[in-house]
Amino acid sequence: MEKFAKPGDFCPNEACPDYQKLQDSQQQNLKKIGKTPRGVQRYQCKTCHATFTATKGTLFFRKRTPEHEILETLALLAEGSRISSLSRAKGFKEDTILAWLREAAQHSQALEAALMQDFQIKRGQLDALWAYVQNKGEKKATPRQR
Ligand SMILES: [Zn+2]
Repeated sequence: MEKFAKPGDFCPNEACPDYQKLQDSQQQNLKKIGKTPRGVQRYQCKTCHATFTATKGTLFFRKRTPEHEILETLALLAEGSRISSLSRAKGFKEDTILAWLREAAQHSQALEAALMQDFQIKRGQLDALWAYVQNKGEKKATPRQR
C-alpha cells in the first residue's frame, strides 16, 4: 500500500503499541481533542496518551521517500520550480513528483499547515499549486505565481 494516510489515521508515537495501526471499526485508539490556534485538528491516542497534530509522520505514511524530502519538493514547486528541474536536481522521476502532487492535493489542509509552518510557503502559492494540479497534464508548466 502506497497511499497517503490522513492525519488522525494512526498514532505517530513509535513507542506506542498502536503505532501506525490505521483506524477502522476495530481499531479506534485516537480521539479528536479540539484544534490548534491555526485551526489544525489535534488528536490524542487513548493507548499512549500522546497528543499530536496533523503534521509529522502522518502525511506520507509508507512512502519510500522521507516525508521531509517530499515536503521540500512540494515547497520548491510552490515557489515556482519546474518539475523537470526538480527531477534532475533531486533524482526523483517527474511522474513520481506529479503523483505526490496529485495525492497531496487530496488532503491539502494538513499539507498546507505543514508547508506553511515548516517552509514559510504562502497561501497564494499553495492555491496556485493546487490549481496547477487540477489542470495538470502539462508537465513542463510552472505553477502560476500571484
Ligand atoms: Zn499511541
